[in-house]
Amino acid sequence: TVRTRFAPSPTGYLHLGGARTALFSWAYARHFGGTFILRIEDTDLERSTPEAVQAILEGMNWLGLHHDEGPFYQMQRMDRYREVVAQMLQAGTAYHCYCTPEEVEAMRERQRTLGEKPRYDGTWRPEAGKTLPSVPEGRKPVVRFKNPLDGDVTWNDVVKGQITISNRELDDLVIARPDGTPTYNFCVAVDDWDMKITHVIRGDDHVNNTPRQINILRALGAPLPEYGHVPMILGADGEKLSKRHGAVSVMEYPAQGFLPEAMLNYLARLGWSHGDDEIFSMEQFREWFDLDHLSKSPAQFNPEKLAWLNNHYIKLADNARLEALVRPVMEREGAQFAGAPDLQAVIALMKERTNTINELADAAMLFYRQPTPDAALVTQHVTDVVKPALVQFATQCKDIEWNKAAISAAMKEVLAAHKLKMPQLAMPLRLFITGQLQTPAIDAVLELFGREVVLARLEQFAG
Ligand code: GLU
Repeated sequence: TVRTRFAPSPTGYLHLGGARTALFSWAYARHFGGTFILRIEDTDLERSTPEAVQAILEGMNWLGLHHDEGPFYQMQRMDRYREVVAQMLQAGTAYHCYCTPEEVEAMRERQRTLGEKPRYDGTWRPEAGKTLPSVPEGRKPVVRFKNPLDGDVTWNDVVKGQITISNRELDDLVIARPDGTPTYNFCVAVDDWDMKITHVIRGDDHVNNTPRQINILRALGAPLPEYGHVPMILGADGEKLSKRHGAVSVMEYPAQGFLPEAMLNYLARLGWSHGDDEIFSMEQFREWFDLDHLSKSPAQFNPEKLAWLNNHYIKLADNARLEALVRPVMEREGAQFAGAPDLQAVIALMKERTNTINELADAAMLFYRQPTPDAALVTQHVTDVVKPALVQFATQCKDIEWNKAAISAAMKEVLAAHKLKMPQLAMPLRLFITGQLQTPAIDAVLELFGREVVLARLEQFAG
């Protein structure tokens, strides 16, 4: 059965690229009814923080990418790594190297002057018939992996196709430091083995690690997973995605008012395609997702498309759910809800043209603050021919049934009586009732405000 993993290093927020590979790994496991594993690669003590772990868990949770096993923490698996190092020393697939860092540096320097690629020269590498130097007293060794000297490492990358690296390019990698702590590629190999990972889907910044991990897995007698290296996400300018291109941290998106389903739909199409399909649910995606349609070329981040998808999902979303998201934003903006229109009704009216929850909140504020019409605008729009029409409209408002159709009919009647055009009445009404000139259809706005508020404001401003 399929077992995939997402293995972030908790050194910062969960970024879009990480979320996308997580989504692909998750979808692949779900597609086959397999298992999705979360593994936190926290061995870099200087750069890993508990806050970053929290941020990753939050981001995954917001996206709904729930793991079936884990989270596993590499720092809690130290005994296991030490055990495997000991086994490899025993088996002769790893060896102690007593070179000091200075000696290794001098070695590299020598090779550089000779124009060679710097690599470990094999001083402590045991070979049949070779006598090793005598162990320097009191010096703690590193453990090096005995990488094959000849031949190639070849794998059929599910994204990039066949990749071949010559073993000559690979050093005898340090797998444990003098204090016994294991190193990065070694931990990844042991974990992928122990966790029985069948498919490693990750960013192509890891391609260079793959031959090393494959050699270690082979030395351990472990089965090899399939590898798929997904190209980077670039900004519209073709540069590596960074803050300049917009928010790169996943959790900035809920803060800006994006819905998780929009983000998921967007990320799913970033480097993967299914014909011309742009809008699909995660159920659909799970069903469709395959590794064959992952793109070999880098994907470009397009904030406009994300906004377009978000608009789509906002329109689709249940108004009660939107209310729960919009209300806290409006409270921060000082919305006055007492005696004001029903928020869900306002949302229903406004959501059509908003790209984010925050835009929706801003638009809805129209109904929840005291209007302060600009005096110059009032002078401009409330001319002497308009004033009597406003007075007549206010009178009509007292008698009609309070719904859109009746309000609209009353407006038309007034317009006809005063020989005015619609904007000549609608604009002053907008100004007096909402304080601004841009609102949704005026009859819908008036209906929502309710008769009392409309009359009170007309009286207040139109006298
Ligand atoms: N911890 C690595 C990272 O965050 C990922 C390692 C992997 O997927 O193999 O870049």
